[in-house]
Amino acid sequence: MRSTPVRLADVIPFSWVDGPGNRFVVFVQGCSFDCLACHNPETIAPSGPAARVSSTGELLEQIRVAEPYLSGVTVSGGEATGQWRFVRDLFAEVRADPQLARLTTYVDSNGHALPRVWDALLPVTDGFMIDLKALDPEVHRRLTGRGNELVLDSIRYLHGQGRLHEVRLLLVPGYNDSPDQLARTAAWLAALDPRLRVVVIGFRRHGVRPEHQHLPEATPELIEDARRALAAAGLGAVVTV
Ligand code: SF4
Repeated sequence: MRSTPVRLADVIPFSWVDGPGNRFVVFVQGCSFDCLACHNPETIAPSGPAARVSSTGELLEQIRVAEPYLSGVTVSGGEATGQWRFVRDLFAEVRADPQLARLTTYVDSNGHALPRVWDALLPVTDGFMIDLKALDPEVHRRLTGRGNELVLDSIRYLHGQGRLHEVRLLLVPGYNDSPDQLARTAAWLAALDPRLRVVVIGFRRHGVRPEHQHLPEATPELIEDARRALAAAGLGAVVTV
């Protein structure tokens, strides 16, 4: 089988925070957003100091070594869909490999991708974890540098395909944490599906670029406010971290 190249930022052989169970995580280099609150800003540019070229073949060898302890494989970033051909081929090769076929395949994404990209990934991907940085397009633009039309479309589309594993909300105080925004975000998600798994993450400064170190961290009270707003809208599967 041919080996597909990838611009790689990092690999973690075991992670409990990148999808269900214990996962081998591939972080690709390059992102379509430029988030103020990015914890891995070195992965945003198309190439970076620690980035290197790897391939599906090289990664499959590493996954086979870790396989006895794994539930699955996740591709994250940077932005996973920026190198979707690699993601498609890696997951197809995992599924075709007798030793690895039992592993689940997940994508962690900012959601800024066209339906044709999701269509390419759907046949080989068990679940998608999508960030919703803000429901308000202008707030989204201030936080990420881009609007959120594609993100909202992606969340709807993947949910319709039965493959949306969770939506992740990163609370950044002063940007997307007003009671009004929390209530509207909760209502939008609940209208999509009250059973949707929603993960609320409080912003922390760790890893953020020096010019954005002034951003305030999320307090436990704010995270609890968000949890209450989501529950009040009828969402029954809210997780806070
Ligand atoms: S989408 Fe993720 S990787 Fe990309 S800039 Fe935002 S936080 Fe960083």
